[in-house]
Amino acid sequence: MRHVKEADPEVHGHMQAELERQKNVLNMIPSENYVSPAVLEACGSVLMNKYSEGYPFKRYYQGNRHVDEIEKLAIDRAKKLFGAEHANVQPLSGSPANAAVFLAFLKPGDKFLGLDLACGGHLTHGSSVNFSGKIYQQVSYGVDKETELLDYDKIREIALQEKPKMIISGLTAYPRQIDFRKFQDIAEEVGAIHLADISHIAGLVASGVIPGPFPFTDIVSTTTHKTLRGPRGGLIMCKEKYAKDIDKAVFPGMQGGPHNNNTAGKAIAFQEALKPEFKEYSSQIVRNAKALADSLMKEGIKLVTNGTDNHLLLIDLRPFGIGLGREVAVALEEAGICGNANSVPYDESTPFKPSGLRLGTPVLTTRGMKEKEMEQVGKWIADVIKDYKNDELKRIINLEIGALCQLYPFY
Ligand SMILES: *Cc1c(COP(=O)(O)O)cnc(C)c1O
Repeated sequence: MRHVKEADPEVHGHMQAELERQKNVLNMIPSENYVSPAVLEACGSVLMNKYSEGYPFKRYYQGNRHVDEIEKLAIDRAKKLFGAEHANVQPLSGSPANAAVFLAFLKPGDKFLGLDLACGGHLTHGSSVNFSGKIYQQVSYGVDKETELLDYDKIREIALQEKPKMIISGLTAYPRQIDFRKFQDIAEEVGAIHLADISHIAGLVASGVIPGPFPFTDIVSTTTHKTLRGPRGGLIMCKEKYAKDIDKAVFPGMQGGPHNNNTAGKAIAFQEALKPEFKEYSSQIVRNAKALADSLMKEGIKLVTNGTDNHLLLIDLRPFGIGLGREVAVALEEAGICGNANSVPYDESTPFKPSGLRLGTPVLTTRGMKEKEMEQVGKWIADVIKDYKNDELKRIINLEIGALCQLYPFY
């Protein structure tokens, strides 16, 4: 970063400090990952100088012959990676990707069915503070209060009664598999479009480590920067019969020019994900999450659904007190572990003071850690939860974590 250093020491200082933070913390935010140096280079490249409204070989600007080839590569690789009929790699991120899907199939005021934010859904699945809940009419489904699992009979019942135009499946804080086939069947029964939003689990789905929504689902949206380990960005895939609707909704419906630097980053990340090593990486993410879950439960920590099938787990802190999520998250950061406070299903507290903590294993797995390290990490987390005001304890754990990070360097 010698040019940044010369041109702007102030920004450079913060960038350098952030690099050190990423190296020296156990990053357990399940929506984050560390990209390869190749993806980093592509995203910081001259491709960002180019405007290319339109689609490959059909642009509104001259000078796109190289960008066309790069976008074409990204599209072809996405289709191959997921077994999709059509791919649009232009969405700037996950939320604009979902906004484009709404724009393609719903009119303002139309009804759709989405997972309640408090039960593990995303803002764009109908939260009242988001465009999806403001412009469209959300009807929500939740998880069962006892099992904390999705109840497909109940979802079908709501769908039959409400007749939504679209049904969204997908998660941000649900630690179990989703039966996308059941969602598609329900959508077909009530004549709705089915959008599967696989933002969190895309890498695991691409690797076939957990069941995904291909090839039967109408529309699939995702971010590219979570388990898929690509650059910040979005991606929409669909059946061929919806291809025109989706492309028109992304451009000119939602966006202007695509971010070509990130398109190149996506193409590289998809190529990385097509390699056998990525399949091994993805299954290690899940094995690590299970090992972490076991370690925590052995220490007496309660997990939502008592475990995990994917890359994330949700700790229910209510046995220690209602609304403790943020305090515990801050304590864990002091000890060297970065996670995030999150609501648990049927939380008695508010989203600003939630009673849960969400953790994931993608970054630690990227750094090469395995089950043995997860067992130790689980013990540290449990120790902090049980005594989160103990500064001496946090100081000692922070030293131990610093030593562990040294053993698993990245960048
Ligand atoms: C992260 C996420 C998004 C939004 O992605 P951004 O890139 O943050 O806009 C959408 N849907 C789900 C399910 C997500 O997990």
